[in-house]
Amino acid sequence: MERYGCFGGVITQTMIGTLSWYRYAKTIDCGGIIKEFELKAKQLSGTINTFNKEIITTEIGRFLENEGLLVDGVPTYEILDTETFKVVADELIQEAGVTPLLHCQAVDTIMDGNTIKGIITESKSGRQAIMAKRVIDATGDADIAYHAGVPYRNDEREKLMAVTTNFSCSGVDLEKFLSYLLEKMHKKPQFIPYFQHSGEIFYMDDFTCFLEPINRTNKRENIPEKIPINKIWMSYANLGTIHSFNGIHITKIDCTNVLDLTKAEIEGRRRVIKTIKSLRKKIPGFEKSRLKNISSSLGIRESRKIIGEYNITEFDVKNQARFEDSIGVCPEFLDAYGTVIMPTTGRYFQIPYGIILPKKVENLLVVGRSVAGDKLSHAATRQMVCCIATGQGAGIAAATSIKENTICRAVNIPKVQESLENQGIRIN
Ligand SMILES: Cc1cc2nc3c(=O)[nH]c(=O)nc-3n(C[C@H](O)[C@H](O)[C@H](O)COP(=O)(O)OP(=O)(O)OC[C@H]3O[C@@H](n4cnc5c(N)ncnc54)[C@H](O)[C@@H]3O)c2cc1C
Repeated sequence: MERYGCFGGVITQTMIGTLSWYRYAKTIDCGGIIKEFELKAKQLSGTINTFNKEIITTEIGRFLENEGLLVDGVPTYEILDTETFKVVADELIQEAGVTPLLHCQAVDTIMDGNTIKGIITESKSGRQAIMAKRVIDATGDADIAYHAGVPYRNDEREKLMAVTTNFSCSGVDLEKFLSYLLEKMHKKPQFIPYFQHSGEIFYMDDFTCFLEPINRTNKRENIPEKIPINKIWMSYANLGTIHSFNGIHITKIDCTNVLDLTKAEIEGRRRVIKTIKSLRKKIPGFEKSRLKNISSSLGIRESRKIIGEYNITEFDVKNQARFEDSIGVCPEFLDAYGTVIMPTTGRYFQIPYGIILPKKVENLLVVGRSVAGDKLSHAATRQMVCCIATGQGAGIAAATSIKENTICRAVNIPKVQESLENQGIRIN
């Protein structure tokens, strides 16, 4: 069940196709649905890093192989075409025999003591109820858990990660832009053809060279808040399009507050126009660029976090924690609060069932970015690889608990693990 018109969450609504950019040659993840996403997307021509053979056999290919981004000439990761992914999600859901519901928002729960009997929904069909034996809350904001009275925490606005309005541009002279960029970044010029041909994603952590001119202009023009683009992801595609310009960061927004959401959407769009104007003026290659599209929803990084049976910690995610109730493994991949750890070494932590198991309510599991954990562990558990693993674990656990007629808290963990392994999930 989904409140908007397509499935996929941040992938399709915020245009984030970098599901697996964390993956290097030595990275260990749990496989499963994340692999299915990539495979299905590829089958539908819905990935954009189509490396061609010429590049793979060149110096660039060797460089990428050394970096751990190619194994036997095959890229370690796929970038999803986020528009095609709408169809990928539709197909996967239909193949799985799920009855989909779009344009349908969960607004409340029907409780019997500590058990959820059903969900109240609002849609064009009016106010309705869906009764359920088990409920999996994948809203990102723990909406269902909140309505069911599960204990949770939500930091004050000032301490929450920023929200983002993503956008894409067309009409970019890619060659000109990349020459400028590479010159500024002192990178090897041979990467220009590689980026042009591959539609590669580029990590622009030290991209300030690109932004300086924009921010300088803002200062001169007395624009109070500089466009806070200090860390940018972009994926380049051919035909002069730059996808998913992930650079507008709006701070102090509580995404469970409708006034804050409204403010951020409007401010985000305002900054998109401003940014494009500055790009046109200041950045070689963007002179004739035009806005192509703005993400259909704000990208949200942090809001409610449930208090779980277990609350994963910074220590756990940084020290390869092991748990008896593991439902999958997640690479040691952290990105938030000024900490960036890329999983180049093969280190990983196990994901405990306890973090998707809320306190108090018996037949509810909470997955995705709102799983239980301390502040810094969120830098790891918010990553799509972890969100997806918790979703698959929850699905299996819910089904197992129904089959065995136990509450979620008492589910037979070895049985859950066996089913997950049968689905190709690595849990150890
Ligand atoms: C700008 C940005 C860039 C990012 N880049 C990366 C990246 O490159 N790699 C990476 O791994 N992670 C990245 N992340 C983090 C990652 O994308 C998210 O943490 C993750 O996708 C969250 O997944 P989720 O399933 O918990 O929530 P979401 O993807 O937000 O999905 C929740 C879904 O539930 C729906 N929903 C919400 N409330 C209700 C309701 N009450 N009723 C019905 N439906 C509802 C929403 O519409 C949405 O479709 C990024 C995040 C942002 C915002």
